[in-house]
Amino acid sequence: MKLDTIITGGTLVTAAGKTRADLGIRGERIAAVGRNLASGNRGAERIIDAKGRYVIPAGVDVHVHLDLPFMGSKSADDYNTGTKAAARGGITTVIDFAIPYGKETMNRAVDNWFKKAEGIACVDYSFHGTITDYRRHLREMPSLIERGIPTAKEFMIYANMGWQSDDGAIFSTLEEFKRLGAMLMVHAESCGVLDLLMARYDNPKDKRKYGVRLHNMTRPHFIEAEAIQRAITWCEVTGGKLFIVHMSTECGADLVKEAQERGVKVLAETCPQYLVLDDAVFDRKDGHLFASQPQIKTKADQRRLWRGLRENTVSNVSTDTCTCTLKHKSIWKGDYCKIPMGLPGLETMMPLVYTHGVLKRQLTPEQFVQKCCTDPAKVMGLYPTKGSLDVGTDADIAIIHPTKKTKVDWRKMETNADWSPYQGWALAGFAETTLCRGTVIVEDYKFTGQNGYGQFVPRKNPGNL
Ligand SMILES: [Zn+2]
Repeated sequence: MKLDTIITGGTLVTAAGKTRADLGIRGERIAAVGRNLASGNRGAERIIDAKGRYVIPAGVDVHVHLDLPFMGSKSADDYNTGTKAAARGGITTVIDFAIPYGKETMNRAVDNWFKKAEGIACVDYSFHGTITDYRRHLREMPSLIERGIPTAKEFMIYANMGWQSDDGAIFSTLEEFKRLGAMLMVHAESCGVLDLLMARYDNPKDKRKYGVRLHNMTRPHFIEAEAIQRAITWCEVTGGKLFIVHMSTECGADLVKEAQERGVKVLAETCPQYLVLDDAVFDRKDGHLFASQPQIKTKADQRRLWRGLRENTVSNVSTDTCTCTLKHKSIWKGDYCKIPMGLPGLETMMPLVYTHGVLKRQLTPEQFVQKCCTDPAKVMGLYPTKGSLDVGTDADIAIIHPTKKTKVDWRKMETNADWSPYQGWALAGFAETTLCRGTVIVEDYKFTGQNGYGQFVPRKNPGNL
């Protein structure tokens, strides 16, 4: 069989183990895995030397916000810069949330998000629905599933944006999704006490005194834990599938673990910012830059979340990328309620998890691949097309150097962010080479792909790990 590209001499790392083998690609798929693929005359047009490198399935980020309108502006990374950043970070599939505005239907929101991506995305993409009005939106879920979108999110906060779902909404959605085979994703923060705490400090004196630290002070750990507990209750009694997005707390991870041990179908992701940053960032002069919802927690939470990844309580790592520029963040002017929330993340997720996970012996290389590439594909219904190195699957591959570190510098990155939460950090695990469906899109750490190469990937059967 003729091969188009052969990756030789590398160590293949999958969730299942490491092997020294070559990898042959024909068209968009992996066509052969074995020794000495380049020795016979296979007529390959391209040989990629991966000696001394790890060859892994490219990353799958199931939680991004690109080109998202919010707080009077929009996120600074669109489908072009965001997916270029993804490629450099070794990620070739992103899943974004199509959010209905005003009285829009979920299908209309998905149409809108297709328009944002088509013609400019550089890696593959998919969407989640967003349910902001379950009485109208639930009816649309069968048609979303038909479009290859078997997941949708509800927010337990954001009444002010008109997005909030109450217990009845979450209960009804889980009941209906069970029937349909869909999975409900939930932003779990408890609004009642959160709103009360925010009102308590809603005066100029406290805002001046505490500044951005009010962001933490109004969101104690129980804000997330109580909401996770409640969502788990509705999941348990309905038998539906639940996915907690951006879980940030130790107590949240404990609740998820206990529920999983009872057989409740609940999964939870976490994000790099909760694994490698802690609330000391809010004492910095530029602490407002680090504001996100939920907010960055403590070192104890970090340790619990790493353990959660090792013991599979935490299903995967996602970025929750929502890029704000310095100018955008500066509109807060001392009032933490006005900070545009969110962090850039696509370019640094895999390097952060590799460097702080694998090189600090918190994860094995196999676990790193499992939690950034394979399990996210599994839980979102993309596996084995994505997240695998098996013959017949998409040739989505990242080649990384196991130890070589480079310093993070936003000036040299593809993201539109004009700062980085990790500026100056020395990280290994950036993609030296990235392939998306057989095409090289990063070479020698630089993006070399094409605008519009990325395709929509339909999904089915989510929620299985
Ligand atoms: Zn998000």
